[in-house]
Amino acid sequence: MNKETQEEMFTIITQQISDLELNIELLKDKIKPIAPDVSLGRLTRQEARQEQEVNKKLLEDSKMRLKKLHYAKDKVFHENFGFCDICEEEININRLKIIPESRICVACLNDQ
Ligand SMILES: [Zn+2]
Repeated sequence: MNKETQEEMFTIITQQISDLELNIELLKDKIKPIAPDVSLGRLTRQEARQEQEVNKKLLEDSKMRLKKLHYAKDKVFHENFGFCDICEEEININRLKIIPESRICVACLNDQ
């Protein structure tokens, strides 16, 4: 990966991190406990709880991804960045642009 691509990847990762951080804040807001005095019907309350569960899961996944993105950002100027952990081939740049935290190429992913 040349210097120019590394810089482009750095910009992409930085952008994805700030988008994700924003999203995490929104999700944190959504999982706040439902106040018992809020006048929801029984069914609505149950639905609200289910939605909270979904959002909790999303929040956990987002936090996990954020860690991986920070890791990728730290590594982006390292010579090993963008190489598959398994076959050591270069990971397709278009895949990296969408999922910069990828550590495995598509071929190896499909083999698993
Ligand atoms: Zn591979």
